[in-house]
Amino acid sequence: MTIHPLETPITQLPGIGPKRTDAFGRLGIFTFKDLLEHYPRAYEDRTTFKKIIELSHDETVCIKATVVAPMQTNLIRKNMRISSLRVSDGTGFLELIWFNNRFLDARFKKGETYVFYGKVRLTPKKQMVTPIFELLDNQKQTGRIVPLYSLTEGLTESLVSDCVQQVLSLCGQLEDPLPSIIRSNHRLCEINYALANIHFPTGKKEYEIARRRLAFEELLTFQIALFSLKKRQASCSAPSMHTSPEPFLQSLPFTPTGAQNRVIKEIAADLASGIAMNRLVCGDVGSGKTAVAASAIYTTVTSGYQTAFMAPTEILAAQHYESLQKMFRNHNIEIELLSGSLSASRRREVLEKLRSGKTQVVVGTHALLSDDVHFHCLGLAITDEQHRFGVNQRRTLSEKGENTHVLVMSATPIPRTLAFILYGDLDVSIIDELPPGRQKIDTFAVGENYRQRIYDFLAKELSSGRQAYIVCPLVEESEVLELESVTEYAQKIQKSFPDTPIGILHGKMKPAEKEAVMSAFKQGDLRILVATSVIEVGVDVPNATFMLIENAERYGLSQLHQLRGRVGRGTEKSYCILLSQSNHETAVNRLNVMKKQSDGFAIAEEDLKQRGPGEFFGTKQHGLPGFKLAGMFTDMELLKETTQVARDYLENRIPITEEEKKTLNKKINTLFNNHVTIS
Ligand code: ADP
Ligand code: MG
Repeated sequence: MTIHPLETPITQLPGIGPKRTDAFGRLGIFTFKDLLEHYPRAYEDRTTFKKIIELSHDETVCIKATVVAPMQTNLIRKNMRISSLRVSDGTGFLELIWFNNRFLDARFKKGETYVFYGKVRLTPKKQMVTPIFELLDNQKQTGRIVPLYSLTEGLTESLVSDCVQQVLSLCGQLEDPLPSIIRSNHRLCEINYALANIHFPTGKKEYEIARRRLAFEELLTFQIALFSLKKRQASCSAPSMHTSPEPFLQSLPFTPTGAQNRVIKEIAADLASGIAMNRLVCGDVGSGKTAVAASAIYTTVTSGYQTAFMAPTEILAAQHYESLQKMFRNHNIEIELLSGSLSASRRREVLEKLRSGKTQVVVGTHALLSDDVHFHCLGLAITDEQHRFGVNQRRTLSEKGENTHVLVMSATPIPRTLAFILYGDLDVSIIDELPPGRQKIDTFAVGENYRQRIYDFLAKELSSGRQAYIVCPLVEESEVLELESVTEYAQKIQKSFPDTPIGILHGKMKPAEKEAVMSAFKQGDLRILVATSVIEVGVDVPNATFMLIENAERYGLSQLHQLRGRVGRGTEKSYCILLSQSNHETAVNRLNVMKKQSDGFAIAEEDLKQRGPGEFFGTKQHGLPGFKLAGMFTDMELLKETTQVARDYLENRIPITEEEKKTLNKKINTLFNNHVTIS
């Protein structure tokens, strides 16, 4: 048998035609390697076998049984066809049920023995409903621990697991990226065992051994890459910019806080140093990061360089654009917004002005990363709300210039341990002070029985001229559902506030629609804004003093903190009501943290402790960017080990052969699509 390299495209597998190739592509799977790294999202233990006589209600088990009579079918309603099959294992009889499945009619022959896996019910009859089945002695889906994969339309669990199985055998014995001395020092299994057991574990222990090894490799390679990146950056030259931001700071309508001033100075020193800045500015919502960024922009532009400012959403980009225009009103600086909704001709115009250098500052979403965006002389690349972008993206943006300064801003106060991992390549500045005059947002965690009182209170706020956000109940991830539920919910609320203009905002609206709603809310034409958690980031309406969050128990604390940060932006007292549909004690306790804490960093630590970092970044982003297996909370111990190994490795303190070093470096270099290369 020929051994296939890991780079082999999956189209080489039998049965993978254009349609399935497409489907795999949507999951980011193109090669054998991608498929092997498409780790199961969960497992189902199908190893328990029982005799029919032992079955109890509601348990999910395997049975080994023989077909005793042909399939019976009954049409019970127009669209409901029930097929039932009688089987026996000598200890009793069992009826197997399927619904609307014509394909099965001719499938079973009397006397054949199968393994059936499914959920048992004993009333009204001893039955197993829609069991999975396989001929005895040819089992792939039963009698073992079965991997469950993330799928997409056109793929099934068994297809994916079949493909993985084939790739494992087609690739033969793989070369281990981890040198054997590291493996033996850290009790790590070898790669072939790890891959086989992460996909098809023979038991829980075997799975844990495999997972630990792969997580170790993930953390180690990531850390080596970041550490070496930091080392390299320390000697990477960049334009030295000396103009003082003082004239700009003088023109602000407020005096910067002490923390803002400190960070502004740190950045100014970086910009003047002649070495490329790579700095993360971490600051709680409302701590005034925009002004800090603007000060860096001022220095860059007045030194003759351009700035690119990247935000994660259209709304935020538009808002940054607006605030920058305001701040620079008297400074004669050309700013453009490169939004997804520009007409083709307008877009061409903006691109041309960027290329010629006429535009000094461009604000946009990841649209800034497109190939057709060119700069005259990019000096500073800023990304806001960094945790939504990966390391690759922050590099792609800065690579649009030569030796660009990089400034990253995060509104998610990040626990130190996490910052260390995710931003190991950056220096960190923290804005740990809020502008004066901000009041603590009074926060209440209550149950459904408070609803009327909440509405009464909201009515009072509205009548004194204030505005309100209501964060709509969470729906499953579906465009149709999201639209329906926000609309429906807003209608329901409208009944309680018949004369109040209410707007809705959700993720599936076109950018122009969103902007129209946001600006109407900003101007006060809309008084209540019913929104999904898209308002989470950055939206700034100082007159909004009331926020109601429905289903609060379903959000992470950090996310609640972010949401809450939309109010309390002006000088009026603000309120945040966390309405929980769950009376579970843990849910209530968790929400009570929000009542007591207003420091985002403390909340983040608490969040990390309670939920683990997979959820820390919101439900959409499972796990940490770049990590498939390693969990920051579950693998804290492992992380300590890998940090030390990464250091030792880069300092050549681990005795390994040139060959081993080459293999490991190859793995590290693919990690960031070769943006980072070490040799
Ligand atoms: P964030 O850090 O969440 O991005 P922003 O930069 O949007 O915060 O600032 C929030 C609000 O606070 C803005 O309206 C801004 O004008 C205002 N602001 C920023 N710095 C100060 C300050 N030193 N004094 C008073 N208001 C400030
Ligand atoms: Mg901001």
